[in-house]
Amino acid sequence: MSHYSIFFKNLYNKYIHRRCAISKIIDGKDLLAKVKNEITVNVAMLRKRGIVPSLSIIRVGENKASIAYSRSIMSKADSLGIYVEQHKLDKLISEKELISIIQKINERKEINGILVELPLPQNIRQKTVLEAIDPYKDIDGFHPINLGKLLAGNLVFVPATAQSIIETIKNSIHSIVGKNAVVIGRSNIVGKPVALLLLKENATVTICHSYTRNLPEITKTADILVVSIGRPKMINKNYVKEGAIVIDAGINKIDGKIVGDVDFDSVQDIVGRITPVPGNIGALTTLMLLKNTVKATKIQNKLDIS
Ligand code: NDP
Repeated sequence: MSHYSIFFKNLYNKYIHRRCAISKIIDGKDLLAKVKNEITVNVAMLRKRGIVPSLSIIRVGENKASIAYSRSIMSKADSLGIYVEQHKLDKLISEKELISIIQKINERKEINGILVELPLPQNIRQKTVLEAIDPYKDIDGFHPINLGKLLAGNLVFVPATAQSIIETIKNSIHSIVGKNAVVIGRSNIVGKPVALLLLKENATVTICHSYTRNLPEITKTADILVVSIGRPKMINKNYVKEGAIVIDAGINKIDGKIVGDVDFDSVQDIVGRITPVPGNIGALTTLMLLKNTVKATKIQNKLDIS
């Protein structure tokens, strides 16, 4: 074979390989559009009744990631007709003062949702602050009452990232029923709620964490693998079963670039479907918060949420 034909054959193979990898990516655009449309319809219905869904964001200090997160929520909310007010508090505020601010917002009828940006400074107990939020305004779903309801299978406010993950899975495969699902990570924000949601969908669920022995042996049994560990690119082809759907919740910054917890290049030939980072889960999470704000507004106004 001539040099030319080898060159073109390699080029063609590269093209096919890239096309194949792209077709496995769950871009989630259809799901984003669906959720946006759902919010738009509900906001229009509420505004017709003279109700403007309203959200209060509380940020303590100047954490860069928190600032970016509030900005992204505010711009999406604005485009969807949801009112947002922001409380920027000094990093030296006491826990007592912060709780008193939350209690005042709890009592304001015109505010439907409260979001406290995490992490909080170390002198403030996160658990105590989250418990101070009125459970009916807890759009993050972190209040113990809402987490308890999730455990009981009664979904009122589900943590937004977990909600995005389960909706992405439902939108990407025919059925979850009876599938082996492995969740790596057991945070209250992602790992535990995702595991409960998968269980509610009748998957067989295993939760792994930093003390799990023989992690690859377990993750290789997964038809559905959810990764939320905060370890850049840790999950490579040695952890993934052929044809698995892989959901990467990780957001890590390396050399100014955002990467996931999954090593995309290593697993792309093995996976059935995979979420990209950045993209998908992160984008959907913000929308889920706004969806929860609309839900809170409907609950507080005694409107049907089904
Ligand atoms: P946490 O730090 O709260 O939890 C990490 C979990 O991963 C823990 O359960 C920990 O185990 C486990 N873990 C850590 N290292 C290993 C390991 N080597 N092997 C197995 N398990 C391990 O993180 P979060 O769940 O809050 O976040 C995880 C990632 O998801 C981060 O990158 C974060 O930025 C991202 N994230 C993304 C969101 C989004 O909207 N897309 C929202 C929230 C988070 P143990 O419990 O034993 O310590």
